[in-house]
Amino acid sequence: MRVAQVSAHTSPLAPLGGRETGGMNIYVLDLSRELAALGYEVDIFTRRDGDLPEVEPIAPNLRLVRVDAGPPAPIEKEEIAGYLGDFARGMERFAARQPEPYRIVHSHYWQSGRAGAVLARRQRAPHVVMFHTLGEVKNRARVSEREPRQRIRIERGIVRRADAIVTASAHERQLLERYYHASPSKMQTIPCGVDLELFRPRDRADSRARLGLPAEGPVLLWVGRLEKLKGVDILISAVAALDDRSVTLLIVGGDDRATPLRAELERQAREAGIAANVRFEGAVAHDSLPAYYSAADVCVVPSYYESFGLVAVEAMACGTPVVASRVGGLVSTVTDGVTGYLIPWRCPEPFAEKLEVLLHNPELRANFGRAARRSVERFRWRTIALEMAALYDRAIAGKRPHRNEGAGFGKEAYEAAVLAAGH
Ligand code: UDP
Repeated sequence: MRVAQVSAHTSPLAPLGGRETGGMNIYVLDLSRELAALGYEVDIFTRRDGDLPEVEPIAPNLRLVRVDAGPPAPIEKEEIAGYLGDFARGMERFAARQPEPYRIVHSHYWQSGRAGAVLARRQRAPHVVMFHTLGEVKNRARVSEREPRQRIRIERGIVRRADAIVTASAHERQLLERYYHASPSKMQTIPCGVDLELFRPRDRADSRARLGLPAEGPVLLWVGRLEKLKGVDILISAVAALDDRSVTLLIVGGDDRATPLRAELERQAREAGIAANVRFEGAVAHDSLPAYYSAADVCVVPSYYESFGLVAVEAMACGTPVVASRVGGLVSTVTDGVTGYLIPWRCPEPFAEKLEVLLHNPELRANFGRAARRSVERFRWRTIALEMAALYDRAIAGKRPHRNEGAGFGKEAYEAAVLAAGH
């Protein structure tokens, strides 16, 4: 069975940890890998952003397909809106060259949702949508630049027309119902998966030695896309409030485009007198992260919002307790007082308080760590991919036949169709 995954603005093969490359990229890649291993023929569509081949095989049954839409170079995420018609048309042309149509079109993020809706209609396949982040929710968190009203209007249109919506957490599902009036019967919560073989507890001393960290002494870790919504400023203030001055804080993530925020955080650390305690690592290859999680005593996730929060799950898979904000998906992944702590306020003091508790208590950390690893078994990719496959089957079974679109679907028609997909 052929499945199209649509990830228009960012490639699942892009290096992670940049301002725009994080959880969604790894999610699309890992989900597709697992579906391919189950026997689905999966093509991931992304915009061509460099001198790269149209088709790149990733694994048996799995290919990345780069579609020409706009310049073959990186562009700002917002700019892709102008090229979505061409993108949809490019996908459709590629699909027409294949021996069989796609039976499912699964779009990731609202921009992909517009183009994916068009491909789904043309292929007469159900359109499955996953938003990863929602404009309305980002605006309510009130820390990043405001998302335009237009994004929210378009997201509503995609919600209305989608055949099925996957939410990563029960919380995201509630938000879609409350702010987007999504019909509960269309939605299903399927958590993100995690690679439990890659992310498993490793030897702490060895991991520390590899990273040039002191064998003893407390180590705290933050990992992610370096952007305001992630709340790294709260963590730096929390570390400054700790009694222990020997703490090392590792900040993993950030590329050239995150430089202004990094400079701001460096200044904050200097002004708080803890510059020597904070190590900015820049983006780290995904495969190298287990050493970081295993070297750390606690992983901190102080985000203003997380729709799922893969980093917390990866840390727990490595047996590292997590201190996280009580927001979004973190509420369903971290168990307060069992695998870490959930902090209901977005301010440094309660974070500092719980960090002190864990740093002063190695036995508690070890207990939390063991419980953490056990708790993430439910996110094994095979389990998650089977749930997704069941959702695909239901979407296909429930699909009403499409009107025949007829031939002669030209460039303008694709542009109009992309616009209509957001109404
Ligand atoms: N990540 C990485 N290298 C980095 C920073 C982040 O591989 O330098 C990965 C991290 O392991 C996780 C993802 O990026 O898989 C971030 O996902 P999360 O859900 O925590 O945040 P999002 O990016 O979705 O906001």
